[in-house]
Amino acid sequence: AKLFSRGKVQYFKASLRQAAKDRIELLTGLREAFSSERLFLYYQPQIDLRTRRVIGAEALLRWRNQHGEFIPPDRFIPLAEQSGTIIPIGAWVLRTACAQLKQLIDLGYSDFRMAVNVSYAQFREPDFVDVLTKVINEACVPAQQLEIELTESIAIEDPISINQTLSAIRALGIKVAMDDFGTGYSSLSVLNKLRIDRLKIDRAFVADVSPVATDGNLARVIIHLAKDFQLSVIAEGIETESQLNELIKMGCDEGQGYFIAKPMDAKTFVDWLMADAK
Ligand code: C2E
Ligand code: CA
Ligand code: CA
Ligand code: CA
Repeated sequence: AKLFSRGKVQYFKASLRQAAKDRIELLTGLREAFSSERLFLYYQPQIDLRTRRVIGAEALLRWRNQHGEFIPPDRFIPLAEQSGTIIPIGAWVLRTACAQLKQLIDLGYSDFRMAVNVSYAQFREPDFVDVLTKVINEACVPAQQLEIELTESIAIEDPISINQTLSAIRALGIKVAMDDFGTGYSSLSVLNKLRIDRLKIDRAFVADVSPVATDGNLARVIIHLAKDFQLSVIAEGIETESQLNELIKMGCDEGQGYFIAKPMDAKTFVDWLMADAK
């Protein structure tokens, strides 16, 4: 029996062609947006869960097209990674986030921490550590106040070369967090293979945190793992007060999420911070 009738094969080819066309259009649009300054950063506060004091923020990339619509990062970042466009864009994200950090330090938030997402495609560039060094020097910010967030996908790569880069980054004083922890194939091996500072609990596990279901909770497991390996731990995607309280009970140090605040543009974020201080 034939798997496809000719008509279906034709249709399949046509839809592949359409998908390829869509990708090219999206990528062209992204490059245009980058050169015409239609990319910018949003900032989501990160707090100390117990005191609710703001300790920092995560910078999140935003693309707004000519019609004012937001194109979600999950749509364009994979494409930017595959095409290499993430490298100049990622460097711009680092520069912009550090300039914002400098502004916050000057406003009196002297120990503020800025977390920036870094793709593996960026991380593995031979000059990545040089880029980081240059960015912190030019922005005049202490390296200790910059954190990069890497995803676990990095752990499937050669741990020796990854650790060389991680050591160089940490020698500068920059912190490293493992994002989306627990969602990859290699979560556990990350712990004793890679030199990192912090685990970031993926929001899928935070969503499962509730006062009733106490058994077999992965957020709790990750918090315990972090303590065992002397890493600090931050939870993302906290959407309710009850999740926040349960995470505190589980021993989680820090968190972020819609319950605390959504990601905001730079001006709104600074206004939010200043209002919070009153
Ligand atoms: P991520 O690093 O895991 O970022 C967390 C995502 O969760 C963000 O989505 C954030 O807006 C969203 N979020 C925050 N709080 C909550 C909450 O309480 N509930 C829910 N449901 N969602 C929440 P966003 O901004 O759409 O970013 C998606 C992903 O795109 C990020 O996931 C990150 O992997 C990537 N990304 C964003 N900015 C950059 C960047 O500058 N560079 C790179 N390489 N990747 C980036
Ligand atoms: Ca992140
Ligand atoms: Ca995450
Ligand atoms: Ca994610």
